[in-house]
Amino acid sequence: MKDDWSRSDIPEDFTTGLHQRTEELYRVPDAEPDRDGLIECPVFIMRDMVVYPRMISPVFIEPGQNLLAVQEAQMEESTMIAVVLSDGEIEDPVPEDFLPVGVEIAVGRLISLSDGNSSALIQGRRRVELVEFTQTEPYYRARVRPIYEPTEVDRQTDALMRTARDYFERCVQLDRSLPDEAHLFSINIQEPGWLVDMIATAISLPFKERQTLLMLPDPTERLKRINWLLAQELDVLELEDEIQNQVQNEVDRSQREFYLREQMKAIQTELGEGDIWVREVAELRERIESTEMPEEARLAARKEIDRLAQMPSMAPEVGIIRTYLDWILELPWAVSTEDNLDVSHAASILDQNHFGLKDAKDRILEYIAVRSLKPKRMRQPILCFVGPPGTGKTSLGQSIAAALERKFVRVSLGGVRDEAEIRGHRRTYIGALPGRILQTIRRAGTNNPLFMLDEIDKLGADFRGDPAAALLEVLDPEQNNAFSDHYLEIPFDLSKVMFITTANGIGSIPPALMDRMELIEFPGYIEEEKLEIANRFLIPRQIEESGLEEHELQFQEQAVRRIIREYTYEAGVRNLEREIGRMCRKIARLKSEKKGFPHRLNPQHVEKFLGPPQFFQTEAERQDEIGVATAVAWTENGGEIMPVEVLILEGKGNLQITGQIGEVMQESAQAALSYLKWHSRDFGLDPEVYEGLDIHIHIPEGAIPKDGPSAGITIATAIISAFTERRVYKEIGMTGEITLRGRVLPVGGVREKVLAAHRAGLRTIIMPERNQKDLVDVPKRVLADLKIVPVTHMDQVLEVALYPPTGEKPEWLKRHNRSEEESEGEESNE
Ligand code: ADP
Repeated sequence: MKDDWSRSDIPEDFTTGLHQRTEELYRVPDAEPDRDGLIECPVFIMRDMVVYPRMISPVFIEPGQNLLAVQEAQMEESTMIAVVLSDGEIEDPVPEDFLPVGVEIAVGRLISLSDGNSSALIQGRRRVELVEFTQTEPYYRARVRPIYEPTEVDRQTDALMRTARDYFERCVQLDRSLPDEAHLFSINIQEPGWLVDMIATAISLPFKERQTLLMLPDPTERLKRINWLLAQELDVLELEDEIQNQVQNEVDRSQREFYLREQMKAIQTELGEGDIWVREVAELRERIESTEMPEEARLAARKEIDRLAQMPSMAPEVGIIRTYLDWILELPWAVSTEDNLDVSHAASILDQNHFGLKDAKDRILEYIAVRSLKPKRMRQPILCFVGPPGTGKTSLGQSIAAALERKFVRVSLGGVRDEAEIRGHRRTYIGALPGRILQTIRRAGTNNPLFMLDEIDKLGADFRGDPAAALLEVLDPEQNNAFSDHYLEIPFDLSKVMFITTANGIGSIPPALMDRMELIEFPGYIEEEKLEIANRFLIPRQIEESGLEEHELQFQEQAVRRIIREYTYEAGVRNLEREIGRMCRKIARLKSEKKGFPHRLNPQHVEKFLGPPQFFQTEAERQDEIGVATAVAWTENGGEIMPVEVLILEGKGNLQITGQIGEVMQESAQAALSYLKWHSRDFGLDPEVYEGLDIHIHIPEGAIPKDGPSAGITIATAIISAFTERRVYKEIGMTGEITLRGRVLPVGGVREKVLAAHRAGLRTIIMPERNQKDLVDVPKRVLADLKIVPVTHMDQVLEVALYPPTGEKPEWLKRHNRSEEESEGEESNE
């Protein structure tokens, strides 16, 4: 066996210490013990590594002590003592830094490396116990005692060895860096100590553990230790293996799926089903080519169908792409209806379905007339129908669509806060769809429907974007011929759509939207109008809907009036229609049960079928009171009347206002009070008197939030009435803003207010003089029932609203003076 090592001779698996030439590698004999059983050799200092008996390992030798020692040993043809530094970091070791157990080793030929260092293979021979260092310069020499190691195997050792082999076998399986022969090798080793040393060399162990194993001379102890270490190593290896398997499984699964899909394709083709998918895709393609749509849409659709064709029919994206293609195919890109622009035809349809609403109808007819004269002129203003619920906004919209012979669709914007609701979600979103605009257009099935956008005043806005901005784009004739929906990603032409918006009030419509729109007001109806609408439209419709014959049932005028007055309280006619419907259904039931039923309904029948009245005309029953005045106010439901109550209490000069009052209304209460204080003497009051008093203003009527300056003169009247104890005439309603000096300023919503006052049975309305012009909008019949008192100053209000002064001292003042005297009396007693 050759002895001259070149680097290429170093076996690849030297880390395991398992080179087959182990036995014959070195001819250097073990050192002969002297009389004391000791041997003496040059020392090889090991840092960070341990070599065990019989194991081979390459070592790296720098010039210095180790090189000198090796050279010396080779000259002497002697073995060496490998001693291990307890801590590999120590630079200049002293004898105490070495472990007390070392290994006698043989060192192979020195190989010079190009960097001036050398390397060699070493092989362990036997464990030795350090006795003393006999020399430290220029290299170490030591005297050591070879350690006798028992080789016999008892039952316990045998069991431990089997376990070690089993564990090791498993390690070899799991650890790719261990050669398979390593396990075979372990089976052939019969000595317990050798087995441990071999395994310890093979597996990866921390330096400290290698040291411990070196210093355990008893093979049984060493076996126990290695088994414990093997168990730990196995844990780690198994975990690693598990992780690797998971990764591998992932890879495998996708490969498997691919394979299965390919197979499925083959099977489908075999069964003729693949053809079905191919045919389906082809059909879609055909539809895309034959459906009329803009080129842009067609290109996008083709791109998607190409993707689809590449996919197996079961791929998850298939559904998403088909939905998208469906949208492209179903949108009415080129489907429109022909407008009927015959103005007299339109006029007759509008009149057929609606009573009154002259302004709105006129405006619509103008719109149609313009269209008929200039058919190409696209740019028409967007109409906005404003008014309380149930005043016919929606149904007039429907009639306009019918007159124009367009499709009618509507969408409610109430509570829409997210831009995506208008404009859709991008397709990358799971479950994405187009926004409400395109959804509604698809529902219409034509690209020129009459499109009603309800509740535009209830549009919200939050962090998800401003829907109003998106809506602007919808309504803007400059932009809406290429409306872009996030989902569709292809512009859609909305310019042929006739948009009409509706709102209950204009206060909360974003100004930018307001600019685009022309307002048409639906102010609400007076009793006479409601009666007419009921007789001509609501009653016939409800009779028919409940399955009765028209001739079977009649409502007496007084019956309808009773429903209006005592069962509904509204500006529109929605509840009126509902109550009429309820009565009709009750009678239909009587008829179907073959019981007799009245054919002419009178006011008593109303109570019989609808139960006790829900609203009383309370105003008539009220007395003229002190400290209570009636405001007429505007709300989203039309006009309302609103009592204002004032109480004077002993206190500290505070003003308290309750009843869901907004800031502006609070300020106007302050202004009213200041006006009174300023004019105290005119009302016969001592300007000092307020200091010992609290004033409580309350505006009842549910918990509806109330705001605005227009209750100013009413609050002032109630306060002054409370202080002067002059009663307020109960049948007077008022509206008007008050200044500190008592001037009365004009207000809004006059028509609704007048109608509400009329509905509530008031007789006189005090209002700012400058609002008189608004009365042209109020039906003559209503004005005939009312006395309107135009005013410019608070004095005029009080003159009309309050009882004349009696000259008597008010009761509250007497009480107040008495209590003041009492408390003063108490003070002087002290
Ligand atoms: P809005 O949209 O203003 O809330 P609707 O259009 O829904 O009100 O009207 C409620 C009901 O009252 C509908 O059945 C409608 O036909 C009827 N109606 C309202 N105003 C009139 C009117 N001027 N003539 C005939 N019917 C009316």
